[in-house]
Amino acid sequence: MKEVLRVITNNERETRGLGEFFAKEVLDFSSAKATVIGLEGDLGAGKTAFAKGFARGLGIQEEMKSPTFILMRAFRVPRKNKMFLHFDAYRIAGAKEFLQIGFKNLLKDSRNILFVEWADKVASILPKNRVKIRISHLKKDRREFIFYG
Ligand code: ADP
Ligand code: MG
Repeated sequence: MKEVLRVITNNERETRGLGEFFAKEVLDFSSAKATVIGLEGDLGAGKTAFAKGFARGLGIQEEMKSPTFILMRAFRVPRKNKMFLHFDAYRIAGAKEFLQIGFKNLLKDSRNILFVEWADKVASILPKNRVKIRISHLKKDRREFIFYG
């Protein structure tokens, strides 16, 4: 995977804004299979904050919570024939658990936008053509986002 973009945000609001902007780009992607976005970064890096902005960019009104205690939450994308599926692999032991909930079938459907927090834990079953976003905690509220494609 090649690095394509680096962005620094200075607070949570900027991270949400970045997620919102990125979602609008993703809505224009066309692909024969699901669009997969994998986020990597430590606890508190801002993965869920980015996801909240992303959902807003898709036009989703429902409140976004971290799905840490449930493996996946699914949302319909308003006015588009698409689904936003938000995963959190933090608590799982390995990729097997993703396979057990039918992840392979979800990957086949071009209407699905699969957004995975802690993607490094399930990297072995993610498609190579995914977008990978690595978030690093710099000082205090500064976060660096590196996008790979
Ligand atoms: P993760 O899902 O990676 O564990 P969260 O998004 O749940 O992280 O939490 C990030 C925390 O860091 C929140 O409390 C948020 O307010 C705080 N924060 C501070 N600065 C930023 C920033 N630049 N971007 C995102 N979150 C930030
Ligand atoms: Mg989170």
